[in-house]
Amino acid sequence: MSKLVHGETIVLSPLIRRITAPNPGIMTGPGTNTYLVGKGEWAVIDPGPALPQHVAAIVQAAADAHATIRWILCTHTHMDHSPAAKALREATDALVIGMPAATPQSQDPDFAPDQCWQEGDYINSDDFVLTAVHTPGHASNHLCFYLEQERILFTGDHIMEGSTVVIAPPDGDMKDYLESLEKLKALDLHLLAPAHGNLMEHPQGIIEGLIQHRLMRECKVLEGMQKTGPADLDTLTPVVYDDVPDYLHPIARYSLLAHLGKLLKDGRVCEDNGAWRRT
Ligand SMILES: [Zn+2]
Repeated sequence: MSKLVHGETIVLSPLIRRITAPNPGIMTGPGTNTYLVGKGEWAVIDPGPALPQHVAAIVQAAADAHATIRWILCTHTHMDHSPAAKALREATDALVIGMPAATPQSQDPDFAPDQCWQEGDYINSDDFVLTAVHTPGHASNHLCFYLEQERILFTGDHIMEGSTVVIAPPDGDMKDYLESLEKLKALDLHLLAPAHGNLMEHPQGIIEGLIQHRLMRECKVLEGMQKTGPADLDTLTPVVYDDVPDYLHPIARYSLLAHLGKLLKDGRVCEDNGAWRRT
């Protein structure tokens, strides 16, 4: 596996390069991966946070490879993914592509795509075909992009390497997330290219593992409620996430709410004045 080095252009395959943005953190892992796809004409997937040195690194990588940046694709509009689209568009005149946010609060306020994509929209260039797969769950406007030529899926934040994806309602939705994972099983996949972390092999095993992991946690939610009786989120979080370090509980609380939202839709729990109980 190639190392994730901030600002350096790493050649991953004849069609794919990667530059990791210098924004490491608890939510971003080593930093946001920007993927550069193509030969003479490039699609940039997830331009990343609005950091001038990161935008400059992308522009320089294209100049070094004598390539033209034609498309800027955003998997979603969280602040570590799409804000650099604006400056990159100004520098290159490329088309910005993505799905606008349904709930733009606390997302990228400058996101203004030239093309609003839906499921199945695609780029057909001389060297590659990239197709959008709508994968709501982490964010309602989340798109993965499938590169036919190498059977690689650019997963954005739908699947990350080395950390669990945050599902934060109301824009995040656990039921959608699991359905989006199920949907990926139909693709012929060789590798996953996440926005955070390294390339991932054995995609189908990973996808199945993620589904099972969430369903296991769902069981823990139901078991936890059995123990506590009607309980609010603050009471339930340490019970359901007793295997997760305390400092991560504020994030886990979002995931718990997402699990409860799914269970509510499934008719297995109900809520009364902030107290959740099994039906
Ligand atoms: Zn995100």
